[in-house]
Amino acid sequence: MSERSAQHPFREATIDLGAIAHNVRHLRELTGVDVIGVVKANGYGHGAAAAATAALAGGAARLGTATLEESFALRRAGITAPLMAWLHEPGRRFHDAVEADIEIGISSLDQLTAASEAATAQTPASVHLKVDTGLSRNGIATHDLDHVLAEAARLERIGRIRIVGIFSHLSGASADDDRAQLTRYRQVIAQAEAVGIRPEIRHLAATAGAISLPEARLDAVRVGIGLYGLSPFAGRSSSDLGLRPAMTLRAAVAAVRRVPAGAGVSYDYVYRCERETTLALVPMGYADGVPRQASGRGPVLVNGRPHTVAGRIAMDQFVVDVGDEPVSVGDEVVLFGDPTLGQPSATDWADAAGTINYEIVTRIGDRVPRSVS
Ligand SMILES: *Cc1c(COP(=O)(O)O)cnc(C)c1O
Repeated sequence: MSERSAQHPFREATIDLGAIAHNVRHLRELTGVDVIGVVKANGYGHGAAAAATAALAGGAARLGTATLEESFALRRAGITAPLMAWLHEPGRRFHDAVEADIEIGISSLDQLTAASEAATAQTPASVHLKVDTGLSRNGIATHDLDHVLAEAARLERIGRIRIVGIFSHLSGASADDDRAQLTRYRQVIAQAEAVGIRPEIRHLAATAGAISLPEARLDAVRVGIGLYGLSPFAGRSSSDLGLRPAMTLRAAVAAVRRVPAGAGVSYDYVYRCERETTLALVPMGYADGVPRQASGRGPVLVNGRPHTVAGRIAMDQFVVDVGDEPVSVGDEVVLFGDPTLGQPSATDWADAAGTINYEIVTRIGDRVPRSVS
């Protein structure tokens, strides 16, 4: 087996920006409403600024992040589109958000007060009121709602805040549960209107609701996983939904060896070779986001042919038993990409690891360079 210089990158996540733009266009057409592109958590692992730029190219009306720091990073990257952020540390003040023209998701009276204190004489703080309609997570709690809505209306009248939106988030537990949240959301909107609040955009649905619950589309949908071309539904693939996966995760074979029958492979020898065989070493492990739970199960392509991880996935590497196939150092390994091209999907890896595709892509580590295509 001749060693030669790697023809393929040692490890690499290629991000198809055209796929992201396509996915936004597709979901805009499907829903008929504005798309808020959710680019939190480094754009679900795809690179936040690149994902944001591609989402805007596809027609996203605004972008959403969890934290303000994530939104500031987008501003520093030159993104001038409307941005919103909705998860704040206790006691957070918002002067920097007002200065950077970032819309603030408000989940409590304290946050509402902090937003109004950050307003300047010329510029009110732009806010989206986030209400808990049943997820029991973030959002203005039901018992605070009367008070917070009244105070928000007052602060808007005196020019301290501008109420851009009112939003909530669905559980996805069942269609009935989501419809119950929509009903509750509509009650909250009516209650807000009764105290004089007229939000420009009402938004409730994320990707799953945007696709499966048309009545929840309202004025805008907040699309995260769909932006990246992955399906939020078990049993429905990306292509079933007209989406194109944006990330392809690849590596180059780092070592190859021929071993005799009975050879133990990787930690704990949970895999032993049944006969003489060739082993290929893949230089990615759980530190790179390849889930250890997928040991013995994760699917890969080696030189375009399907195989399964042999034995334990380690921190930096795992092994594939390629039998008698000719494999050389530097040959291409694809962990996941677009199944319409015959590649395993991020969802296949999620199934192998007992998790969801969201976790697979967001955990791809910093040691894996992203390149855009
Ligand atoms: C992450 C998130 C989204 C995006 O959800 P997807 O299921 O990825 O589309 C939307 N809204 C809120 C509040 C979120 O936290």
